[in-house]
Amino acid sequence: MLVNSDSLLSMASKEGYAVPAYNINNLEWARFILEACQEDKSPVILAVTEKSISYFGGTKVIYNMVKGLVDELSITIPVVLHLDHGSSVEICKKAIDSGFTSVMMDASRKSMQDNVSDTNEVISYAANKNVSVEAEIGVLNEEEGESLENDSVTPEDAKEFVLQTGVSSLAPSVGNKHGIYKDEPKLDFELLGLICKSVKIPLVLHGASGLNDNMIKTAIFCGVAKININTDLQIVWADAVRRFLDYNKKEYDPRVIIASGEQAIKKMVHYKNNLFGSKNRAV
Ligand SMILES: [Zn+2]
Repeated sequence: MLVNSDSLLSMASKEGYAVPAYNINNLEWARFILEACQEDKSPVILAVTEKSISYFGGTKVIYNMVKGLVDELSITIPVVLHLDHGSSVEICKKAIDSGFTSVMMDASRKSMQDNVSDTNEVISYAANKNVSVEAEIGVLNEEEGESLENDSVTPEDAKEFVLQTGVSSLAPSVGNKHGIYKDEPKLDFELLGLICKSVKIPLVLHGASGLNDNMIKTAIFCGVAKININTDLQIVWADAVRRFLDYNKKEYDPRVIIASGEQAIKKMVHYKNNLFGSKNRAV
Protein backbone atom coordinates (compact mmCIF):
# COMPACT_ATOMS: atom_id res chain seq x y z
CA MET A 1 0.00 0.00 0.00
CA LEU A 2 1.26 3.48 -0.87
CA VAL A 3 1.52 5.78 2.15
CA ASN A 4 3.36 8.95 3.15
CA SER A 5 6.38 8.67 5.41
CA ASP A 6 5.17 10.62 8.48
CA SER A 7 3.92 7.81 10.68
CA LEU A 8 6.61 5.39 9.44
CA LEU A 9 9.40 7.77 10.44
CA SER A 10 7.92 8.79 13.77
CA MET A 11 7.40 5.12 14.66
CA ALA A 12 11.02 4.37 13.63
CA SER A 13 12.28 7.32 15.73
CA LYS A 14 10.33 6.16 18.73
CA GLU A 15 11.42 2.55 18.49
CA GLY A 16 15.04 3.14 17.50
CA TYR A 17 15.32 1.82 13.96
CA ALA A 18 15.52 3.37 10.49
CA VAL A 19 13.30 3.00 7.43
CA PRO A 20 15.37 2.21 4.32
CA ALA A 21 15.12 4.49 1.30
CA TYR A 22 16.40 2.70 -1.79
CA ASN A 23 16.83 4.56 -5.06
CA ILE A 24 15.19 2.81 -7.97
CA ASN A 25 16.88 2.99 -11.35
CA ASN A 26 14.41 1.04 -13.48
CA LEU A 27 11.35 -1.18 -13.26
CA GLU A 28 13.34 -4.26 -12.36
CA TRP A 29 15.04 -2.56 -9.39
CA ALA A 30 11.66 -1.44 -8.09
CA ARG A 31 10.39 -5.02 -8.31
CA PHE A 32 13.50 -6.57 -6.71
CA ILE A 33 13.40 -4.09 -3.81
CA LEU A 34 9.64 -4.45 -3.25
CA GLU A 35 9.86 -8.26 -3.25
CA ALA A 36 12.82 -8.31 -0.84
CA CYS A 37 11.13 -5.86 1.55
CA GLN A 38 7.84 -7.74 1.39
CA GLU A 39 9.70 -10.92 2.32
CA ASP A 40 11.35 -9.07 5.24
CA LYS A 41 8.08 -7.39 6.26
CA SER A 42 10.00 -4.11 6.18
CA PRO A 43 8.42 -0.75 5.33
CA VAL A 44 10.23 0.79 2.38
CA ILE A 45 10.79 4.13 0.70
CA LEU A 46 11.37 3.97 -3.06
CA ALA A 47 13.37 7.07 -3.92
CA VAL A 48 13.69 8.69 -7.32
CA THR A 49 16.05 11.50 -8.29
CA GLU A 50 15.37 14.09 -10.98
CA LYS A 51 17.93 12.34 -13.19
CA SER A 52 15.90 9.15 -12.82
CA ILE A 53 12.70 10.99 -13.64
CA SER A 54 14.20 11.99 -17.00
CA TYR A 55 15.49 8.44 -17.47
CA PHE A 56 12.09 6.86 -16.79
CA GLY A 57 10.26 9.42 -18.93
CA GLY A 58 8.39 11.38 -16.25
CA THR A 59 6.86 11.40 -12.78
CA LYS A 60 3.57 9.87 -13.96
CA VAL A 61 5.42 6.92 -15.52
CA ILE A 62 7.11 6.25 -12.19
CA TYR A 63 3.93 6.58 -10.13
CA ASN A 64 1.98 4.26 -12.43
CA MET A 65 4.82 1.75 -12.50
CA VAL A 66 5.18 1.64 -8.70
CA LYS A 67 1.42 1.59 -8.13
CA GLY A 68 1.10 -1.21 -10.69
CA LEU A 69 3.85 -3.26 -9.06
CA VAL A 70 2.38 -2.81 -5.58
CA ASP A 71 -1.02 -4.02 -6.84
CA GLU A 72 0.10 -6.83 -9.13
CA LEU A 73 2.68 -8.24 -6.71
CA SER A 74 0.18 -8.03 -3.80
CA ILE A 75 2.58 -5.91 -1.77
CA THR A 76 1.12 -5.36 1.70
CA ILE A 77 4.02 -3.56 3.42
CA PRO A 78 3.84 0.26 3.61
CA VAL A 79 5.52 1.71 0.49
CA VAL A 80 6.47 5.39 0.16
CA LEU A 81 7.15 6.86 -3.28
CA HIS A 82 9.63 9.66 -2.67
CA LEU A 83 11.23 12.39 -4.75
CA ASP A 84 14.90 12.54 -3.72
CA HIS A 85 16.65 15.96 -3.88
CA GLY A 86 13.92 17.91 -5.66
CA SER A 87 15.82 21.00 -6.79
CA SER A 88 12.83 23.29 -7.35
CA VAL A 89 9.37 23.94 -5.99
CA GLU A 90 8.01 23.07 -9.47
CA ILE A 91 9.45 19.54 -9.60
CA CYS A 92 8.12 18.87 -6.07
CA LYS A 93 4.64 20.04 -7.10
CA LYS A 94 4.82 17.92 -10.24
CA ALA A 95 5.74 14.81 -8.24
CA ILE A 96 2.92 15.51 -5.77
CA ASP A 97 0.43 15.96 -8.62
CA SER A 98 1.56 12.66 -10.12
CA GLY A 99 0.89 10.71 -6.91
CA PHE A 100 4.24 10.70 -5.08
CA THR A 101 3.58 10.36 -1.35
CA SER A 102 6.73 12.13 -0.17
CA VAL A 103 9.03 14.79 -1.59
CA MET A 104 12.35 16.29 -0.62
CA MET A 105 12.71 20.00 -1.27
CA ASP A 106 16.46 20.45 -1.45
CA ALA A 107 17.23 24.16 -1.43
CA SER A 108 20.29 23.57 0.75
CA ARG A 109 22.55 25.42 -1.67
CA LYS A 110 20.46 28.56 -1.34
CA SER A 111 20.51 31.02 1.58
CA MET A 112 18.77 29.87 4.75
CA GLN A 113 15.99 32.36 4.08
CA ASP A 114 15.37 31.05 0.55
CA ASN A 115 15.62 27.46 1.76
CA VAL A 116 12.91 28.23 4.33
CA SER A 117 10.65 29.91 1.79
CA ASP A 118 10.99 27.18 -0.89
CA THR A 119 10.40 24.48 1.73
CA ASN A 120 7.33 26.30 3.07
CA GLU A 121 5.86 26.67 -0.40
CA VAL A 122 6.15 22.90 -0.93
CA ILE A 123 4.78 22.17 2.56
CA SER A 124 1.66 24.25 1.96
CA TYR A 125 1.13 22.57 -1.43
CA ALA A 126 1.63 19.11 0.09
CA ALA A 127 -0.47 19.72 3.19
CA ASN A 128 -3.96 18.89 1.93
CA LYS A 129 -2.65 16.12 -0.34
CA ASN A 130 -1.30 14.10 2.56
CA VAL A 131 2.28 14.18 1.25
CA SER A 132 5.37 14.29 3.52
CA VAL A 133 8.10 16.86 2.99
CA GLU A 134 11.79 16.38 3.75
CA ALA A 135 14.29 19.26 3.63
CA GLU A 136 18.06 19.55 3.75
CA ILE A 137 20.29 22.03 5.50
CA GLY A 138 24.03 22.32 5.09
CA VAL A 139 25.45 21.12 1.78
CA LEU A 140 26.47 17.52 1.19
CA ASN A 141 29.60 17.07 -0.85
CA GLU A 142 29.20 15.21 -4.13
CA GLU A 143 31.58 12.48 -5.26
CA GLU A 144 32.69 14.70 -8.14
CA GLY A 145 33.12 17.81 -6.03
CA GLU A 146 36.26 16.72 -4.24
CA SER A 147 37.55 20.22 -3.77
CA LEU A 148 34.48 21.32 -1.84
CA GLU A 149 34.44 20.95 1.88
CA ASN A 150 31.20 19.71 3.40
CA ASP A 151 29.21 22.52 4.87
CA SER A 152 28.01 21.19 8.21
CA VAL A 153 25.16 22.79 10.07
CA THR A 154 24.78 23.95 13.66
CA PRO A 155 22.05 22.63 15.98
CA GLU A 156 20.81 26.23 16.34
CA ASP A 157 20.39 26.60 12.56
CA ALA A 158 18.59 23.26 12.41
CA LYS A 159 16.24 24.23 15.24
CA GLU A 160 15.48 27.60 13.65
CA PHE A 161 14.85 25.97 10.26
CA VAL A 162 12.41 23.44 11.70
CA LEU A 163 10.60 26.13 13.72
CA GLN A 164 10.19 28.27 10.62
CA THR A 165 9.04 25.48 8.33
CA GLY A 166 7.38 22.68 10.30
CA VAL A 167 9.05 20.22 7.93
CA SER A 168 8.40 16.52 8.71
CA SER A 169 11.98 15.24 8.41
CA LEU A 170 15.39 16.84 8.03
CA ALA A 171 18.61 15.80 6.33
CA PRO A 172 21.49 17.62 8.01
CA SER A 173 25.01 17.66 6.60
CA VAL A 174 27.31 16.12 9.22
CA GLY A 175 30.28 14.97 7.13
CA ASN A 176 28.31 12.48 4.98
CA LYS A 177 28.83 12.40 1.21
CA HIS A 178 27.03 11.01 -1.81
CA GLY A 179 28.58 8.34 -4.02
CA ILE A 180 31.78 6.50 -3.18
CA TYR A 181 33.84 7.76 -0.23
CA LYS A 182 37.38 8.26 -1.51
CA ASP A 183 38.77 8.60 2.03
CA GLU A 184 37.64 7.05 5.28
CA PRO A 185 34.19 8.60 5.98
CA LYS A 186 34.12 10.83 9.05
CA LEU A 187 30.69 11.58 10.45
CA ASP A 188 30.19 14.01 13.29
CA PHE A 189 27.95 11.90 15.52
CA GLU A 190 28.08 14.39 18.37
CA LEU A 191 26.67 17.05 16.06
CA LEU A 192 24.06 14.58 14.76
CA GLY A 193 22.92 13.85 18.33
CA LEU A 194 22.77 17.56 19.19
CA ILE A 195 20.74 18.32 16.07
CA CYS A 196 18.35 15.49 16.90
CA LYS A 197 17.83 16.84 20.43
CA SER A 198 17.22 20.36 19.21
CA VAL A 199 14.83 19.64 16.30
CA LYS A 200 12.78 16.74 17.74
CA ILE A 201 11.80 15.45 14.28
CA PRO A 202 13.14 12.35 12.47
CA LEU A 203 16.54 12.87 10.83
CA VAL A 204 17.57 11.51 7.46
CA LEU A 205 21.02 10.20 6.58
CA HIS A 206 22.03 10.70 2.95
CA GLY A 207 25.18 9.21 1.46
CA ALA A 208 24.99 6.12 3.68
CA SER A 209 26.51 3.77 1.09
CA GLY A 210 30.04 2.94 2.15
CA LEU A 211 29.50 3.62 5.87
CA ASN A 212 30.39 0.66 8.03
CA ASP A 213 27.78 -1.13 10.13
CA ASN A 214 28.89 0.52 13.37
CA MET A 215 28.52 3.97 11.87
CA ILE A 216 25.03 3.10 10.68
CA LYS A 217 24.05 1.81 14.13
CA THR A 218 25.50 4.89 15.80
CA ALA A 219 23.63 7.16 13.38
CA ILE A 220 20.35 5.41 14.25
CA PHE A 221 21.19 5.73 17.94
CA CYS A 222 21.77 9.48 17.37
CA GLY A 223 18.28 9.96 15.90
CA VAL A 224 18.40 8.95 12.23
CA ALA A 225 15.08 7.37 11.16
CA LYS A 226 15.55 7.21 7.36
CA ILE A 227 18.67 6.00 5.62
CA ASN A 228 19.26 6.47 1.89
CA ILE A 229 21.00 3.76 -0.09
CA ASN A 230 21.84 4.04 -3.75
CA THR A 231 25.51 3.41 -4.53
CA ASP A 232 25.73 0.16 -2.52
CA LEU A 233 23.00 -1.39 -4.68
CA GLN A 234 24.49 -0.04 -7.91
CA ILE A 235 27.88 -1.56 -7.12
CA VAL A 236 26.64 -5.07 -6.29
CA TRP A 237 24.27 -5.09 -9.27
CA ALA A 238 26.96 -3.95 -11.72
CA ASP A 239 29.45 -6.50 -10.33
CA ALA A 240 26.93 -9.35 -10.70
CA VAL A 241 25.97 -8.36 -14.25
CA ARG A 242 29.63 -7.96 -15.26
CA ARG A 243 30.39 -11.46 -13.93
CA PHE A 244 27.34 -12.90 -15.68
CA LEU A 245 28.31 -11.38 -19.03
CA ASP A 246 31.91 -12.57 -18.66
CA TYR A 247 30.60 -16.15 -18.47
CA ASN A 248 27.72 -15.73 -20.91
CA LYS A 249 29.23 -13.82 -23.77
CA LYS A 250 26.49 -14.84 -26.20
CA GLU A 251 23.55 -13.78 -24.03
CA TYR A 252 21.58 -10.95 -25.64
CA ASP A 253 18.17 -11.05 -23.91
CA PRO A 254 18.01 -7.79 -21.89
CA ARG A 255 15.60 -9.38 -19.39
CA VAL A 256 18.11 -12.10 -18.59
CA ILE A 257 21.01 -9.64 -18.41
CA ILE A 258 19.26 -7.17 -16.08
CA ALA A 259 17.88 -10.00 -13.91
CA SER A 260 21.36 -11.48 -13.48
CA GLY A 261 21.80 -8.80 -10.79
CA GLU A 262 18.51 -9.65 -9.03
CA GLN A 263 19.94 -11.84 -6.28
CA ALA A 264 22.77 -9.38 -5.59
CA ILE A 265 20.28 -6.55 -5.07
CA LYS A 266 17.95 -8.67 -2.95
CA LYS A 267 20.83 -9.90 -0.79
CA MET A 268 21.98 -6.31 -0.14
CA VAL A 269 18.42 -5.16 0.61
CA HIS A 270 17.94 -8.02 3.12
CA TYR A 271 21.28 -7.11 4.71
CA LYS A 272 20.41 -3.42 5.06
CA ASN A 273 16.87 -4.09 6.35
CA ASN A 274 18.40 -6.26 9.03
CA LEU A 275 21.08 -3.70 9.88
CA PHE A 276 18.64 -0.78 10.00
CA GLY A 277 16.27 -2.80 12.21
CA SER A 278 13.33 -2.31 9.82
CA LYS A 279 12.78 -6.03 9.34
CA ASN A 280 9.48 -7.35 10.76
CA ARG A 281 8.22 -3.83 11.53
CA ALA A 282 5.43 -4.06 8.97
CA VAL A 283 3.43 -6.92 10.45
ZN1 LIG B 1 21.04 12.43 -0.99
